[in-house]
Amino acid sequence: MTTRPAPETWLADLKAIVGDAGWIDDAEAMEPYLEEQRGLYRGQAPAIVCPATTDEVSRVLAYCNKAGIGVVPQGGNTGLCGGAVAEAGHIVLNLRRMKRVRSMDTVNNVMIVEAGCVLANLQSAATEAGRLFPLSLAAEGSCQIGGNLATNAGGTNAVRYGVARDLALGLEVVMADGRVWDGLSMLKKDNTGYDLRDLFIGSEGSLGIITAAVLRLFPQPGDVQTALLALENVDSALSVLNRLQQASDGRVSVCELMSAISVASATLHIPDCRPPFDDMPPWSLLVEISGGREDGELRPIFETVLEEAFEAGEIIDAVIAESRAQAQTLWRLRESIPEAQKQDGASIKHDVSVPLSRIPEFLERATAAVEAALPGARVCPFGHLGDGNIHFNVSQPVDGDRDAFLAEWERCNRVVHDIVAELDGSCSAEHGIGRLKRHELRRYKSSVALDAMRALKAALDPNGILNPGAMLPDA
Ligand SMILES: Cc1cc2nc3c(=O)[nH]c(=O)nc-3n(C[C@H](O)[C@H](O)[C@H](O)COP(=O)(O)OP(=O)(O)OC[C@H]3O[C@@H](n4cnc5c(N)ncnc54)[C@H](O)[C@@H]3O)c2cc1C
Repeated sequence: MTTRPAPETWLADLKAIVGDAGWIDDAEAMEPYLEEQRGLYRGQAPAIVCPATTDEVSRVLAYCNKAGIGVVPQGGNTGLCGGAVAEAGHIVLNLRRMKRVRSMDTVNNVMIVEAGCVLANLQSAATEAGRLFPLSLAAEGSCQIGGNLATNAGGTNAVRYGVARDLALGLEVVMADGRVWDGLSMLKKDNTGYDLRDLFIGSEGSLGIITAAVLRLFPQPGDVQTALLALENVDSALSVLNRLQQASDGRVSVCELMSAISVASATLHIPDCRPPFDDMPPWSLLVEISGGREDGELRPIFETVLEEAFEAGEIIDAVIAESRAQAQTLWRLRESIPEAQKQDGASIKHDVSVPLSRIPEFLERATAAVEAALPGARVCPFGHLGDGNIHFNVSQPVDGDRDAFLAEWERCNRVVHDIVAELDGSCSAEHGIGRLKRHELRRYKSSVALDAMRALKAALDPNGILNPGAMLPDA
């Protein structure tokens, strides 16, 4: 049973826990915490609560649990599915003040970090220690590691190093009732019952609040080889990927696919983004292999494989970067696509994955189905081919009506996600469910899976205070 005090009472009580430095209730100052990336939702919280320690998180949750106050955990607020949006009467609990690297350990090759550390800062901390922390995504300058773990983020290096789940050995989590689970283990092997760490990773703040993590560190690669390849079709992209994996002993660290329309959009709208090929190929593939101890060590392997692929007719043209600066020019094409797409008007998003072998079939079928369902719509796919993850974005017709197009969001999703399901794929490869895709869970998860998820939620958060309205569809 919960008893909810009057708002002025509970707001004052919570403020007393975090102090003035951890309290934001000024309308203008709250704005960045209430705004949502894609403008699909608007947060309503009366205050943003920013604890500085695990103990403060614990006391805030213990209080909210007793008083029945909804708590929406928030990191950098870069999520793309409305997961960190607070409804009226709920608070946002932002972790940004918890940004300490608690320890850096180059014997166990781990760092213990607080949840509010910005991802790019952790990459730098690892580099300074002579190690690599490989999680990398375009929002890395503002997203936080707590948010990355809560969403099980993927990014561009997942093909080699795995997703966020693969990069964390342990977690510290504050449970809904305020108790702290110290799971900051450095162990790779620990078969002592249910894996709680894996339960909290990807739970989008619905089961507990991640306050710290043990992250894995890797050797810094001595050499990175980058190329942009021109291809006739996506089957060729899969062949090239396999060739590279075999020849480099699995050291492919990036494999990003771009359709002609996505590259054209980037070169049209983004300054200094130049098309690298004389003729625009139907598909471009950005690939990197990395490893070794010395600069240039992997170059012979890279060149040999690309020559073989060329002779086999899989590649029609290629640009191999001669320097990091040239590599960055190639990267710029890939990284500019999301921003460029915004300038092509409204866009209906699909962040999907299918088994690698089924990507060509998925692209063919989904493109045809969307073009039939929404005449004039421009299918603009790109993404992390190496992980089977395609951002299958659909831009509005040229000169079409923006609102009329966006009104078709759910219908378009249905067309695409049904094909994904037929191909044994996922309707959310890396961004999560949040508020945007709750109804998709109902359609695409089995009742067995949903029942198990609801049972976990009821057991760990019986008063339903953690991220209410996110992820799980109503029973
Ligand atoms: C330009 C751009 C590029 C992107 N590229 C990628 C990409 O390549 N791969 C990818 O996976 N994602 C990508 N994203 C999505 C987003 O950056 C990731 O989902 C990121 O992991 C979210 O981190 P955040 O700190 O911003 O979390 P938020 O957006 O603040 O929160 C996301 C979810 O996690 C929960 N949460 C946050 N912190 C905690 C915590 N400490 N404990 C418990 N729950 C918490 C929130 O309640 C919410 O449900 C991209 C976003 C942008 C804007």
